[in-house]
Amino acid sequence: MIIQRVVLNSRPGKNGVPVAENFRLEQSTIVDTIQAGQVRVRTLYLSVDPYMRCRMNEDTGSDYLLPWQLSEVADGGGIGVVEESKHDNLAKGDFVTSFSWPWQTVAILDGSLLQKLVPQLVNGHLSYFLGAAGMTGLTALLGVREKGHVAVGANQTMVVSGAAGACGSLAGQIGRLEGCSRVVGIAGTDEKCSILVQEMGFDAAVNYKKGNVAEQLRELCPGGVDVYFDNVGGDISDTVISQMNQNSHIILCGQISQYNKDVPYPPPLPPDIEKIQKERNITRERFLVLNYMDKQEASILQLCQWIQEGKLKVRETVVEGLANIGAAFQSMMNGGNIGKQIVSVSK
Ligand code: NAP
Repeated sequence: MIIQRVVLNSRPGKNGVPVAENFRLEQSTIVDTIQAGQVRVRTLYLSVDPYMRCRMNEDTGSDYLLPWQLSEVADGGGIGVVEESKHDNLAKGDFVTSFSWPWQTVAILDGSLLQKLVPQLVNGHLSYFLGAAGMTGLTALLGVREKGHVAVGANQTMVVSGAAGACGSLAGQIGRLEGCSRVVGIAGTDEKCSILVQEMGFDAAVNYKKGNVAEQLRELCPGGVDVYFDNVGGDISDTVISQMNQNSHIILCGQISQYNKDVPYPPPLPPDIEKIQKERNITRERFLVLNYMDKQEASILQLCQWIQEGKLKVRETVVEGLANIGAAFQSMMNGGNIGKQIVSVSK
């Protein structure tokens, strides 16, 4: 059977900015028959995520991520529909997902590595299983619960960087649902800031590309910062940390501002900021969602319930066509649109 697939065409280099041309669409073939335990699936949605930047390097710098190989098919979070099954628990028409879905139109996969999806849990909005009801939502929820020390009635102020991104837009809402009394976002455009406040219930949002971030934060967080959900690292994080209270907590989710640089993860703080962190006893432990997979099922159900109740507002941008996945990745790495960036492969 003839299929379309996307392979890694070239590496951007450890200090380079990735571009769409780092990927290549090509025609390929898969066998016509499947073996016992296998399923043939048609791809519906693929996720583009910042961690993929590390997979574009020869050495990902992390023990849980494998590098993509040149001229080999890329992979990541994906959703598809079963077209033929020789696996006992999967049938034609089932919707399934995997963290390592190949970027191709049709694939033969091991059925035991797939999770069956129940579309009703997300009001039929299947692609949410790659975002708010998938790894992104899990990251936001478990990050807040495992590292945030958020408590109802504790009158905590939370700041979220990368607040308009897939994780950040959920993390702020979850911080509020879990008990924070004030939530302030940091994002890169006025439009994103206004959606965070008007649609997603943030109390305020700062455009970090305009004005003095430190001054604006001081005004918006008069009692200081108790919880910092950090998606970006770098100067923005240094500014937030210097306004954090004694015994406060950083949720070290990601450091996207550093991903095109050859630095260790997590990047060390500058000496003056590290001094503040130590003197004020601010926790900054590494958080990795994959370490909490025993909580996955219950957490996904919680996220789905909040989505159904309208308590968690979800935004996503869907780019049509496998041929455009490289461009979608490039756009995501440059800030993208608000919420989760998804590629639809159905056409
Ligand atoms: P995303 O949707 O691409 O959002 C990232 C946001 O950061 C964007 O809204 C972007 O928009 C902002 N941003 C990009 N470059 C920036 C820069 N140089 N300085 C400041 N802001 C910048 O990504 P995501 O899926 O939400 O992921 C967010 C972070 O979580 C990433 O660092 C990712 O690696 C991490 N993550 C961690 C785990 C874990 O287990 N720890 C799991 C998943 C994801 P604007 O610049 O326009 O605001």
